[in-house]
Amino acid sequence: MSEADPLRILIVDDDPSALALLGRHLTADGHEVLRARDGREAMKILLAEGPPMVITNWMMPEMDGVEFCRTLRQHEGVPFAYVIILTATTDQNRIVEAFSAGADDYLCKPLKPKELLSRVRAGERIIKLHHTLEARNREVHRVNAELAVLNNKMGEVNTQLNRMATVDELTGLVNRRAAFLRFNEHWSTSGRHGEPLACILADIDHFKSCNDVYTHAVGDLVLKETAKVLQAAVRQGETVCRIGGEEFLILCPKSSEAAAAVAAERLRREVEARVIVSGDLQLRVTISVGVAERTAEMTSPDDLLRTADAAMYAAKDAGRNIVCVASGDSGEAVIQTPERQSYVRPRDDSPVSQNSGANTMVLVVDDDASARSLSRAFLQREGYQISEAVDGLDALGKIQRDPPDVIIMDVAMPNMDGLECTRRLKENPETQSIPIIIVAARTDGVGLAECLEAGANEYISKPLSSGELVLRVHTMVCFRRELERSNAVRAEQSRALEQLLTFSQGIATAQSLDAVLDATVAAAGALTCSRCISIMLADPAQVSLHVAGSLGIDPQTAAKITVPIGTGISGAVFASQQTRVINSAGSGSQHHDGPDSALFPNTPCISTPLCAPECVVGVLNIAGRLDAQPFGELDLNYVDLICNLAASAIHDYLSRNARDDARNSIVTALVKLAESRDNDTGRHLDRVTRFCVLLAQELGASERYRSVITGEFLRDLHKAVPLHDIGKVAVPDRILKKPGPLTKEETTVMRTHADVGATTLRSVIERTPGAFFLAMAEQIAQSHHEWYNGEGYPCGIAGDEIPLAARITAVADVYDALTSKRVYKDVMPHEQAMAIITTGAGTQFDPDVVEAFQRRERDFRRLATELADTTSTNDAPVGLDSSQADASPVVVEV
Ligand code: GH3
Ligand code: MG
Ligand code: MG
Repeated sequence: MSEADPLRILIVDDDPSALALLGRHLTADGHEVLRARDGREAMKILLAEGPPMVITNWMMPEMDGVEFCRTLRQHEGVPFAYVIILTATTDQNRIVEAFSAGADDYLCKPLKPKELLSRVRAGERIIKLHHTLEARNREVHRVNAELAVLNNKMGEVNTQLNRMATVDELTGLVNRRAAFLRFNEHWSTSGRHGEPLACILADIDHFKSCNDVYTHAVGDLVLKETAKVLQAAVRQGETVCRIGGEEFLILCPKSSEAAAAVAAERLRREVEARVIVSGDLQLRVTISVGVAERTAEMTSPDDLLRTADAAMYAAKDAGRNIVCVASGDSGEAVIQTPERQSYVRPRDDSPVSQNSGANTMVLVVDDDASARSLSRAFLQREGYQISEAVDGLDALGKIQRDPPDVIIMDVAMPNMDGLECTRRLKENPETQSIPIIIVAARTDGVGLAECLEAGANEYISKPLSSGELVLRVHTMVCFRRELERSNAVRAEQSRALEQLLTFSQGIATAQSLDAVLDATVAAAGALTCSRCISIMLADPAQVSLHVAGSLGIDPQTAAKITVPIGTGISGAVFASQQTRVINSAGSGSQHHDGPDSALFPNTPCISTPLCAPECVVGVLNIAGRLDAQPFGELDLNYVDLICNLAASAIHDYLSRNARDDARNSIVTALVKLAESRDNDTGRHLDRVTRFCVLLAQELGASERYRSVITGEFLRDLHKAVPLHDIGKVAVPDRILKKPGPLTKEETTVMRTHADVGATTLRSVIERTPGAFFLAMAEQIAQSHHEWYNGEGYPCGIAGDEIPLAARITAVADVYDALTSKRVYKDVMPHEQAMAIITTGAGTQFDPDVVEAFQRRERDFRRLATELADTTSTNDAPVGLDSSQADASPVVVEV
């Protein structure tokens, strides 16, 4: 609103004449007037038009002036308006009410024009002030917002500056400046707490050649990748810093020199193994590493760094790709070769005795003698051994006699050129793994593609540069070593896999607990390359362990070993269920005087619990490692696999045995019960059983029964027959042991034994599931008195309706009854018994069974004699009493 603009005023009154009068005064004074009849209408206009001043009557219908004022102040989106209330009252309380509702001023009625206009002008001033204030507020907000943005930017810049001050831009590692700050902190802490402090210094080998040969960009990539490998390979608490172009410092607080040396060797290996890929290019680099630990003589981190630096240079001198440990006491540097054979670096400056080139034979094949000398000079400096050949043919002969590790092959040569020679070498399985680097001049007209097609592994163009030649040969040597290592690992893995397969098959097909134990000790020995293996199982009371299976341990000694649970190595392992690995005599008390000392004749050794899913069944012990090397992660993985399989299988057998034991004791009790109720000695049951098996074997030999009478049938029959008369337990003694003939009623009672027996066995079957022979026993008990012609009891079934086992038992049972003594009869001669049975073929007996009986008649006679009852339990004179018989021809109640 500018100075010249009229002030827009909304006037509100329900009285039209008052509204008109007010309007006139204001218009006359140059103001623009808007009108409303009540509070509600006024609100609408206010929202739509936003007049800066409102003059409203107090008393109005619908919404009065004070209510309107209150609504207006509470409403969020309503623009500021200066409100004057018209009132007829001069009551102070009412006026206070108007102000608290949000009114800015008031005018008493009747209106006095002069007062009205001067109040309006006062209001106008306030409105202007208000607008100025608002504009200032807006400005302050804007500036504040700008400041906030600036502040954020400052924060980012600061973070970036901080980062730049501490982080190496290329690799993201801690940079040189921050490295030394951190080094100082570790130095102080180590001094304060008397803790060790070690550092590792790693420098990439031949890195300059890498830049020269592959460009600076690839060099940068190598730096980044190496940094990543190092960063991933260090442990928590260790810091990797880039303190120079291709020089990395690793701070190892609380680490001894020995621990840092192990870490350094791990770093060296990981860097060597990493294949760096840039487009079509694949390359590897190696690092030379120096390790040092703070000693009492050192006064600052610089001293420690200098010592590590000296060790690192010793590693460079020794041929690179080596870890060298500064041994503080003697001042000598101890070298760790990749093969882990530590030795002391020679102190004089004698020629390098061990390096990446040492023991590496390079064959240089070139017809140009000066080219050969050049290569020889370049490579000998790096410690490689060189042999030479003048052309392809010469090379083939030399390679055959003494295969080199790497071949450098010229292309253009007389007799046989480099490509042809390469082809032949790569076709021959004995030489195809030797890396070949082809050297070609531009004038040879041979390109990389042709060389690769011939089988070459690398290509260098002439003229030779020392850096490139050394780098390519170095890469090939690393490549070859890696290949050999991975081949060895693969061979080891497939051997292990085969062993594991044999083991799991052995376990799956094992017929006994002993077979499971034998397979387990054999597998554990083979997979961990160890000689002394033992498996200890807990006794049922879980009090002690005993040796249940062993390999390489004197059986008599093993048999005597009893280890109370919780004692010795194995007893403690069983109790704690924790594997124990003792890799060196010093790493744990070697319980040579423990009760199980004979099982651990030396270190390294392992004792590990055999954990089945729900319980520990025993312990597997391994000692007598053939190469005496400590057990590693791979060994423990194998042991774990073996234990899992073995523990389940052992648990299975043990619980199966426990089940069998329970079942057998029930059956034994049943048989005992049957015997106790038999009139004669238990030999009757024994004889009947043997007769039945005899008959079944004879039948099984015939075409008709071969598929039915299997080994299992015979085994079941052997166990089932003794139970055929089990139902007699329910027959009262007075009937069962009655010396004379039975009455009709007594016969009826006697005959219930078939049903009672079958019912008894059914209830046993329900309680001991899995004892399959009991089903056969039930059939026999139920049906051994049925007749082949259907005239038997209890069901009167006939022919093949009668189970085969019952048809067999019928013949055996009657034969035995006839030929042995009973309370009601005496012994009948074999011939007579045989005649009776023969007569019964087709009526009482199955004719097939009778035929089998006839064929084995001699065996029956022999068995009957051999197993005859020696003592008679009853002296009553008896004969074959047909009153005990069912319908004839001959019935003997048995
Ligand atoms: P040695 O095995 O004896 O350590 O030989 P070397 O070639 O690795 O060592 P030398 O000190 O001769 O060369 C180091 C090279 O590292 C020289 C320098 O150009 C290169 N370099 C340093 N910083 C960087 C970098 O940030 N990026 C790249 N690409 N190269 C770098
Ligand atoms: Mg270097
Ligand atoms: Mg009977």
